Amino acid sequence: MYDLIIVGAGPIGLNCAIEAEKARLNYLVLEKGVLVNSLFHFPTNMTFFSTSNLLEIGGVPFIAHSEKPTRRESLEYFRRVAQSWKLRIHYYEGVEGITKTNGIFKVTTSKQVYEARKIIVATGFYDHYRPLNVPGENLPKVKHYYDEPHPYVGQKLVVVGAANSACDVALETFYKGAEVTMVIREPNIYEKVKYWIRPNIENRIKEGSIKTFFNSTVKEIKEKEIIIQTPEGEKTLENDFVLAMTGYLPNYDFFKKIGIEIGDDENKIPVHDPETFESNIHGLYLAGVIVAGMQTSKLFIENTREHAAIIIGDILKKNKVLR
Ligand SMILES: Cc1cc2nc3c(=O)[nH]c(=O)nc-3n(C[C@H](O)[C@H](O)[C@H](O)COP(=O)(O)OP(=O)(O)OC[C@H]3O[C@@H](n4cnc5c(N)ncnc54)[C@H](O)[C@@H]3O)c2cc1C
Repeated sequence: MYDLIIVGAGPIGLNCAIEAEKARLNYLVLEKGVLVNSLFHFPTNMTFFSTSNLLEIGGVPFIAHSEKPTRRESLEYFRRVAQSWKLRIHYYEGVEGITKTNGIFKVTTSKQVYEARKIIVATGFYDHYRPLNVPGENLPKVKHYYDEPHPYVGQKLVVVGAANSACDVALETFYKGAEVTMVIREPNIYEKVKYWIRPNIENRIKEGSIKTFFNSTVKEIKEKEIIIQTPEGEKTLENDFVLAMTGYLPNYDFFKKIGIEIGDDENKIPVHDPETFESNIHGLYLAGVIVAGMQTSKLFIENTREHAAIIIGDILKKNKVLR
């Protein structure tokens, strides 16, 4: 019987584990993949938009070569955090179900069943992309995750989307020799594109080196072509690859399965007490970026690190018996 089970070993799940360590709780972190699985799957050459000090957890200094750390440096950092705090994590053990009977949670994973008094769900959003919902989306040439530019050298590439990831991907592949076209639903690049990316992408679009269709959507993807709807009518472009950088979503099926209610507004925020992060299920808390629901750019590592101390504080306050 654990005092606490934390679902997800992302930066915020780890921070919850650190606070649980500090409170001497008997806890376990269950992670379906590797340590900081989302960060591990970020683009290979990615640089964070946060400075390293704003990603620090557990008082462990984050030393990076530049002001903003790279993905690779972040993997080193969080590994060091997990090792120095001796965090108790089971990897490759996804949580498949959580039920509650007589005040005790039963957590079913891909390997076994655990019991716990409290649960923190910190499952992030990077596993679930927003689909385009168009014919041809399942063709192997359509990717919803970007890794590195090399496969796209000399290829006709369509990048869908206008936020940071789409702009980053369009620029990186363009500079490595892909023939890049952007298809953007809105009339502009996303207003919150980082200030160090914006001038570069806007100038490449203006000079025509990255051809861009604004107010346009993808209609269909074929083996060698893509059909888009533009203000000037339907256009068929020759195409080798599509990178759909259309964003990500929390795993709503999982929330539903374990009984977390979802707000009925357009942001689909999982129901929780904003003071304590306790969900509609007494004793089950939400932490990290999932708290913002569909507004995935509102919360990030920087501004969700505080969730851990608040949640563990609430657990201790409500359950003096634990320790
Ligand atoms: C490209 C990109 C760049 C970003 N850059 C920054 C930045 O510079 N600064 C910043 O503050 N934020 C940044 N963010 C946002 C932030 O990094 C991520 O959203 C961050 O990973 C959120 O942390 P988290 O712990 O809430 O979730 P995650 O890191 O996504 O962790 C969730 C974990 O839960 C695991 N999991 C999911 N389901 C289950 C299950 N059923 N059972 C067990 N484990 C499960 C996942 O495998 C994952 O390891 C960026 C996001 C992206 C996509």
